[in-house]
Amino acid sequence: MPNWRAHNKINFVMYFICLAIILIFFHRLEKIISPALNILLLIFTASYIFSNYFLSPDLDLKKNECKKNWGIFGFIWVPYTSVFKHRGISHSIIFGPLTRIIYLLLIILLPLIVLKKIGILNIDISINLDSFGWKVLITVIIGIYLPCLFHTLADRIFHG
Ligand SMILES: [Zn+2]
Repeated sequence: MPNWRAHNKINFVMYFICLAIILIFFHRLEKIISPALNILLLIFTASYIFSNYFLSPDLDLKKNECKKNWGIFGFIWVPYTSVFKHRGISHSIIFGPLTRIIYLLLIILLPLIVLKKIGILNIDISINLDSFGWKVLITVIIGIYLPCLFHTLADRIFHG
């Protein structure tokens, strides 16, 4: 199976292939590249890079490069590593990224909810999305999912 560097190279190449497909598709659709599309492309790129370096399916390994990228916050993935066995659900095309998104949201939101409940924090945690907000959310989800998809496919293609 490919190592961390090989996965990075594959995901780097796939990013530009995705970008080319998106640009060709939207260019045909709109004839021009709109400012909104440029913002969504930036968000897609940021999500893709974040997912590639911080949300790899290999977070299910006790020792992995992705956990190192989290620096002193690498410890937050220790429970994830102990719950999900290597090449299990974390490497599922549909559920793998979902487990890491939900896990990360829980890690971030749970302390905020607790602090709000006991009255230390007074912030509004609810999110209201308009039509552009939905586009941003979908773009972020696609940007997170794609590197994980390419990782899992590379693992399957080059395995044994
Ligand atoms: Zn893997």
